[in-house]
Formats: sequence, C-alpha cells, structure tokens
Amino acid sequence: MDNSFKFNPYEALKSILEITSYYTGDEFIEHTAIEIKKLFQADLVYITKAIDFNPTTKVEVLYSTNNKLPEIIDLNGIPGKFVFDNKIIKIKEHVKYNFLELLDEKFESFYGIPITDNNNNCIGHIAIYSKLIRELPEELNDIALIYSRKIQRETRRIELEKENQIIRNQLQELTITDTLTSLYNRRYFTKVCSDVYAQVNRDSTKATLAYIDIDNFKNINDKFGHEGGDFVLKYFAEILLEHSRKGLDYVFRLGGEEFCIISVDNTLDSANEHMNRLMNITSSKFTSTRFGEITLSIGIVEFNKGFSSYEEILSLADKKMYKAKNSGKNSIVK
Ligand code: GH3
Ligand code: MG
Ligand code: MG
Repeated sequence: MDNSFKFNPYEALKSILEITSYYTGDEFIEHTAIEIKKLFQADLVYITKAIDFNPTTKVEVLYSTNNKLPEIIDLNGIPGKFVFDNKIIKIKEHVKYNFLELLDEKFESFYGIPITDNNNNCIGHIAIYSKLIRELPEELNDIALIYSRKIQRETRRIELEKENQIIRNQLQELTITDTLTSLYNRRYFTKVCSDVYAQVNRDSTKATLAYIDIDNFKNINDKFGHEGGDFVLKYFAEILLEHSRKGLDYVFRLGGEEFCIISVDNTLDSANEHMNRLMNITSSKFTSTRFGEITLSIGIVEFNKGFSSYEEILSLADKKMYKAKNSGKNSIVK
C-alpha cells in the first residue's frame, strides 16, 4: 500500500479550478484531465461523455492523457459501467480492461467519477488510473460533485459549438443550392468554374464543361402544367446526380431547363461518352413515364490554358449547345 500520497483535497480543487478557468470548451476538458493527472499523481486520466446507455454503456473519450486510448469505449461488463449509476467507483487491484491493453501499461487502481447534469443524471465520467495501489480521500466526492457541474457546462458548450457549426454549414449549403432540384445553383457555378479554370491554368489538370438544355421543354409545361414541368426538372436532376462521379462531377442547374456539369479529371472524349450515356438513360427513363420521351441538346468544351477567362468557356459551351439545337436537337456538339 502506498501511503506517501497526501494532499489537501480542497486546495487541490481550488488549484484545478484556477488553472482551468482560463480555458473553455475542448481546451477546458483537456486541461482538466492534465491537471487532475498532475494533482493526483495519476498515470492515466480521461474524461468521457456518455453516448449510449441502451443496450450498452458506450462513452466517447473527450480527452485522454494517453492518445492510444480508443475514441469510443464500451463499458459493459466492467465496473466503470456503475459510474453511470452515479456512483464513484474505486478499484484497488489489478485493473484489466480490454481497451487498456493498447497502452502497454499496467494499472493497480482505478477511480471513476460521474459527471452529472443539473437533474443529477450521469452524462459522462472522469477516469483516473494509477500504477500504484492508491487510496484517494473521501473528500474527493465533494470535489467530483462541484467539478462535474463545470465539466457538464463546458461539454454543453462544445455541443452548442458543434450545433452552431451544423447551422453554419446548412446556411452555406442553402446559398449554393438550387431550391427546386437541390443541385448546385448558378452562384456556386461561378465559383466552381473559376476555381477549375484557375486549377487548369496552374497545373495540367484536365476538365470539361457540358452545357445541357432540355429540348421542347415549353411543350411539357403546356401539356402538363408548370407542376408537371417542375417534376420533369426534378426527375432529370436525379438522373444527372445518379450518373455523376462523386467528388469529380459538379452538377448545376443554371436556370429554367438548363443544366451544366463541370467534370474534373475528364477529357473531351470521355465527357462525350458520358453525355451520350446520359441522353440514352434520360430518353429511356422518361419514355416509361406519362411525359414520354425527353431529349437533350448538349455543348461540351474542354478547359485549356488558351481561354482568357472562365466566362469564355461557358459562352463557348452555350454556343455549341445552340449549334446542337439548330442542327435538329437531340445531339451533342463538342
Ligand atoms: P428548346 O428545345 O429550343 O430548348 O425549346 P424549349 O421549349 O425547351 O425552350 P424555351 O427556352 O423556349 O422554353 C423554356 C421554358 O422553360 C420556358 C419557361 O416557362 C420554362 N421554365 C423556366 N423555368 C422553369 C421552372 O422552374 N419550372 C417550369 N416548370 N418551367 C420553367
Ligand atoms: Mg433553354
Ligand atoms: Mg430547352
């Protein structure tokens, strides 16, 4: 039994609170773990957040002083689980959990301290391991109680920050999305097209732009109403997405019944093949609907260093598309 470890728990609490008060969110959690490790002369400290109680008790490790610990730990079948019944767990014997085997260290004592919310529900825990058999003072309970409130607040702050980030992403998403089809919109087209143009000018990336216009779309609106027309646009957008390469093809609705695909890592010939396939698929898919056959006129341009701006590429693709229209529609000009 090692009795050389003595400290004043209230001094310790004050000290941890002071040191960690400079930090918020993730940094607060990190420094809390580090300070606890120092003060308790522990060998491993981690702080978790419960992510699943049923059917198992899974926790996410928010911070661990040893980075070999897995991000998610399943506590089922080990005493640490009982921390989630709001009990402080003390183990003073060889501590042997399968996830500890990754650490090449042997621990002789474990303290599990619940982190509770305002309703006294356990929402996570602080795990303290020592290589020595160690008795921590009873006052630790008081420390744990006060401190867990603060940890809970900071955990909540981290969650709020994540939620804010999700909202920011959604807003960003909205500003680049066409509301009818959920494809990218014209605003985003301007950005992607100029970025790809710059990339092609910088290195020898190959890229293509296909300008797609649905033939005789006005007839569809006339026959099936504006809603029928909208349905066709949405269904066509699905076909476009389904047959694009993730991360390489950017699919836009530029407006009305006009669409555009910018394909990175693509040559004129393979864009031509891709568009041929798209025309066949579109034709066959629509033929089996009440709208009947739908055909497309398409202009394709390959990016190259000769263009003086990205607008020039779009304008050339548009011209080629009109050439396809004038030569009887349902065709590709490259
Ligand atoms: P072409 O073969 O020469 O391309 O003829 P078109 O009828 O396809 O082309 P035109 O430009 O003459 O007509 C396009 C029509 O698309 C006119 C417009 O009312 C309709 N339109 C534009 N935006 C929308 C939309 O969001 N929803 C629906 N339903 N129709 C739209
Ligand atoms: Mg048009
Ligand atoms: Mg048209």
